[in-house]
Amino acid sequence: MSDSVTVTNQQAADLLDQVADRLQILDANRFRVIAFRNAAESIRNLGRTLASIQAEDGLEKIPGVGKGIADALRELLETGHVQEFDELAENVPDGVIAMMQVPDMGPKKARRLWEELDITSIEQLRAAAAAGELAQLKGFGKKSEEKILKGIELLAARQDERTPAGDARPPAEKLVGDLRAALADGDIIRIEIAGSLRRWQETIGDVDILAVSENPAAVMQAFGALPQVAEVIAAGETKQSVILTTGLQVDLRVVEARNWGAALQYFTGSKAHNVPLRELALKRGWSLNEYGLTATGSGDAPEGEARFFSEEAALYAFLGMACPPPELRENRGEIQAAQNGRLPQLITLDDVRGELHGHTTYSDGKNTIEEMARAAMARGYGYWNVSDHSVGLGVVQGVDAEQIVRQAEEIARLNARFAAEGLDFRLLHGTEAEVLADGTMGLPDEVLATLDVVVASIHSGLRQDRDAITTRCLQVVHNPHVDILGHPTGRLIGRRAPADLDMEAVLRACAETGTVVEINANPMRLDLNDIYARRAVELGCKLAINCDAHSPADLALLRYGIGVARRAWLTPDDVINTRPVDDMLALLKR
Ligand SMILES: [Zn+2]
Ligand SMILES: [Zn+2]
Repeated sequence: MSDSVTVTNQQAADLLDQVADRLQILDANRFRVIAFRNAAESIRNLGRTLASIQAEDGLEKIPGVGKGIADALRELLETGHVQEFDELAENVPDGVIAMMQVPDMGPKKARRLWEELDITSIEQLRAAAAAGELAQLKGFGKKSEEKILKGIELLAARQDERTPAGDARPPAEKLVGDLRAALADGDIIRIEIAGSLRRWQETIGDVDILAVSENPAAVMQAFGALPQVAEVIAAGETKQSVILTTGLQVDLRVVEARNWGAALQYFTGSKAHNVPLRELALKRGWSLNEYGLTATGSGDAPEGEARFFSEEAALYAFLGMACPPPELRENRGEIQAAQNGRLPQLITLDDVRGELHGHTTYSDGKNTIEEMARAAMARGYGYWNVSDHSVGLGVVQGVDAEQIVRQAEEIARLNARFAAEGLDFRLLHGTEAEVLADGTMGLPDEVLATLDVVVASIHSGLRQDRDAITTRCLQVVHNPHVDILGHPTGRLIGRRAPADLDMEAVLRACAETGTVVEINANPMRLDLNDIYARRAVELGCKLAINCDAHSPADLALLRYGIGVARRAWLTPDDVINTRPVDDMLALLKR
């Protein structure tokens, strides 16, 4: 990094994590390591840039950031470097830090390989393991050499390859269903997907599944034999890790019924949530792990006394708090809220009464307006906004002013027919107006003025520099005919980075003008994400959750958008399409 380079939150967080890695290798004080990890996690989850926080509130206001780390961040923002961290980096080679990423290789092993065999890179580690040189070290055998080689292979395959939740959830759910079907009745008493999938995180590493069974051997056997399992990489009596044919890793654990509450809590995470929870338990004299609580002797209970919880909620209640929904467990204030009876009434799938962004054969949708309407009705919706692409988007045929008139006639005809059939359903007429290079819309104002709900989205020029694209986006938000800003950042998870927008400025403008901000529920988009959605509500914006459906099947994607909304602490009131159609329309800015 050179001077006066802007430091992103991600870069700052990564740097703090590297410092924590180095401190771990050097066997530094555990609490110092935790402090850096917590600060990194907290910065990763901020909805605003570090620079703006520094200017407005001071860096010490960031949760988990104390004076020392705040000073370091200031130095980083001003110079692009932190001298203390640079010196630390000279003491521990980068390659040794990289070695810690190999599965099963903790800081202790990495340090020994470095100190005793002078191995300072993953490449050297691979060579040494292949040549059988690790076996001469105490505690390392042929087996651990094989494990390390396998781990390096997995690491290479997985590096930076977190799986979008939309790719992981369907196979994980199918796996659970297939496992149940493969076993005798009663072999599985409980089963649930835990981990980041249960928290509805947008991408995931591995899938964690937990089960209760009185016949774990049968469960293990059936699991490994499922047809979608490509390879069993570790098999024990109650735990098994497999790789699916899609490359996804799935870990299954069978636990006892009395441990279910603590196990589900532990394996749901996140780490950021579980660390302060453990500290809270410790303060009360209990050590918390995946089995339950054990008295440390520092509280009222005699040392070694154990407590088990068959339900998660009972564990949280024992620790003096309500059970936070999994989506909130990111250490973003949910522990305090759970202690004070202030957990939000989160939005659910059932709260949504209609959608405001979707496509038909008039643009790139696969189905007619009527087919989409019938599918929306089948989901129990009371309305659906026909919002085909306007002209202006090169790769897709768009609707022009003439076709808008034809479409209006068709929609009026269909609404009349639905009414005659006694159906309580209304098609709305809108468009997904294309934002042109100069910030104007693909359809003239007088056409937009005839429509019920105008969504405006940027599909082209997403790589413009920050000033240019922010200015263009603000122009859209200030357009009096634009009701909803569609998939604001234009990102595609794992494929296309978000536009370099000044989101703080965009969201403030949306709040000011009454422009509704979309959470696009397509799992490749999830745009706004949870962080921005929460910030949007803080700033006073209203949101809409839409599938951007191009076929009836796409309407099933809504749950991913609800997942984002729940992670953003949203209540039904924050989302306009939880309302009956007339109340919803009354909230639009026109
Ligand atoms: Zn779009
Ligand atoms: Zn669309």
